[in-house]
Parts: sequence; structure tokens; C-alpha cells
Amino acid sequence: MLNRLNLTGLTPEELFEFIESLGEPAYRARQIFAGVHQRRLRSFAEMTDLPRELRAKLSEQAVISTLTLESRYVSTDGTRRYLFKTHDSFPVETVFIPEEKRDTICFSSQSGCPLQCTFCLTAQLGLLRNLTAGEIVEQIIMALNDAYGVSIKTPRGTNLVGMGAGEPFLNFEELMKAIRIMAEPAGLHIVSNRVTVSTAGVVPRIRELATIPDRPHLAVSLAAPTDDLRTELMPINKKWPLAELISACKDFEKSLKPGERFTFEYVMLAGVNDSDEHARRLAKLLNHHALRAKVNLIPHNPAEPLPYQPSTPGQVESFREILEAKGVHAFVRRPRGRDILAACGQLAARSAPETSW
Ligand code: SAH
Repeated sequence: MLNRLNLTGLTPEELFEFIESLGEPAYRARQIFAGVHQRRLRSFAEMTDLPRELRAKLSEQAVISTLTLESRYVSTDGTRRYLFKTHDSFPVETVFIPEEKRDTICFSSQSGCPLQCTFCLTAQLGLLRNLTAGEIVEQIIMALNDAYGVSIKTPRGTNLVGMGAGEPFLNFEELMKAIRIMAEPAGLHIVSNRVTVSTAGVVPRIRELATIPDRPHLAVSLAAPTDDLRTELMPINKKWPLAELISACKDFEKSLKPGERFTFEYVMLAGVNDSDEHARRLAKLLNHHALRAKVNLIPHNPAEPLPYQPSTPGQVESFREILEAKGVHAFVRRPRGRDILAACGQLAARSAPETSW
């Protein structure tokens, strides 16, 4: 048990309360918040703008860093994967994806994952535990520090995606708290408009997200156009079958801002869900409900010992063309960091790549 309070997971209001309880003036809370989130410092000792006695008092009662870096892998494409350990020794993975115009950080919401999607390696870990808001924010702080350096201002437009290990919507409170903290102008200032969270289809939370004013963008993992196949690949479909999922997505559309889209992710498994017929069925499903979502096609990333192969580039293209011809916008997601097991579905706390893809 962490017996000291983790300040990284506190909102500015909560931090004020804590500082007040220490009998300190409110502006100290502002300094600490800026120290943690804007300067991205990792210890009270570095907060030299605070009096020495206060730093000592804080160290007795609180912490600002709880994750330790276990390993760091750099892909030939520049993607970096971090394997952290929580204070109680659970694995946490984060991926930094450099792109031409902006960089993306993919964070985890749980250690392991309780869902049992057959094509995803994280499922093999089972759920180890939910991450706290502080642990979610800290992943981003660590990745930014590694990429740009401590105290160097975050470049404008860094994107966050909640697509790492875990099902974000089964840890909704902490996830949303982390997103609020990261949006603070006096901190990281990564606004929710730059954040996308992906769900395997936790229907009540899709509906709840739609009601939140400063909500992040939504992506929904589909993987199949029919209930039979989807239940086989994603057992969560038993609980919330396609009709309920699509109806929630339809309602979610009402909360979209002008120009905003939401995304369906469709992992492409050779010979399983990637035929032309599957593409036609998918188009029919989306068109039937007049869903304006776009579809991201993700060729399966190898994940031994899982029994799947990625669809061939030709089949991916054929699938995409069928969707487009039927008026469904579809894009092929380029895999990143496959060689270091950093790509979608490959996060399983493996300490080193075991095969050479
Ligand atoms: N649990 C959430 C967040 C994970 S996002 C969700 O399911 O949406 C990870 C994305 O990668 C999901 O869209 C998932 O369908 C996809 N994925 C999982 N395993 C994969 C693999 N081996 N190759 C390609 N994509 C995969």
C-alpha cells in the first residue's frame, strides 16, 4: 500500500485542500501543481521554489512519482515503448509515437485487462488492477520527459490516446479525472479535444461520456459486423451485443461537435473477419443506422502465441475500397513499433521482443 498521498492524481481543488490542511498558503498549491504538471518535476527536492521545511514536510506525507521505469525500447520507426512498474509491482505500458506533424502518446488505463478479446495479447495477463488517476497522468509525464526533456514545454498539439493496456471504460472515474487534470492550463494543458479513448463497447459508459461537456473523442473497437463473429472474437459482445452498441453510438453522435467524428476500429484478421462479404456487411450495418463514423482498419499485429495472421495488404485495400464505395470513410492504420511489441494488441508487459518481425 502506498501510505503517502499521490499528489499527481489530485485536481487543483484537491491540492488546495491538502495544502490548506498543512496550514500552508494557497499559492503553494499553485506552485506544486505547476512543478508536477508544467515543469514535470519528479521529486519535491527539485521544487527549489518551495522552502526547504515545506519540501521536507511534503516528502513525509506525500509523493509525486510512483512509477519506476523498468525498460525502454526504441523501434526502428522511432516509436518508444516504456514498461513501468507501479509501487506494488504491477506492469504499466506506455507508447510514444512520433509523427511528422505531432506526436501521440498511447497510455494504459489498467494493468492487464479483464476482457478476453481473442486477438489481443493484453488479454493474456487478465486484470491485474485499475490504475489510479495519478498513475495515468504520470505515464504521460514520464513519456514527455523522455521525449522532450524535463521542464521543456510540451509541443502544442501532442495527442493522447487511451488505447494501451486495459479497458478505459471499466476504470471510468479515474480515467476521466486524469483527463481533467491533464487539460489544466496551469499544468500539462493537453485539452480533451486532443484526447481519444477507445472502448471495446461498454455501452453505459458510451452513453455517459456523451453527457460530459469537455469530453474526449471516442473510438469503439468493432472487429466484426455480426453478433456471432463478434462474440467469438470479443466476449464482451455477449453482454452488450451489436444492436445495443450501435444504438449507443447512434445516440453518441448527437453529442458530436461540428466537424467531429467518432471512430470504429476494425482489427483485420486474415481469413477470419476480412472478406469482401464482411466489408459489405459492415457497410450495411453502418449505413442502415446512418452512422457517420469513420472506420480505422488495423491489420493484425503479430502476437504469438495467438493463432492469427494479418490480412494481406491487397485484402485490406479491397476491404477499404468496398467500404468507401458504399459511402463509409475508411482508413488503414499504419502499424507502429511492431518490432518492439509496442503496436496495438501487443502490450503484455513482455520485457524483450522475442521474435523478429
Ligand atoms: N480495451 C480498449 C482499449 C484498447 S485499444 C478497446 O478494446 O478499444 C486497442 C485497439 O487495438 C483495439 O481497437 C483492439 O481491437 C486493437 N487490437 C487488439 N489486439 C490487436 C492486434 N493484435 N493487432 C491489431 N490491433 C489489435
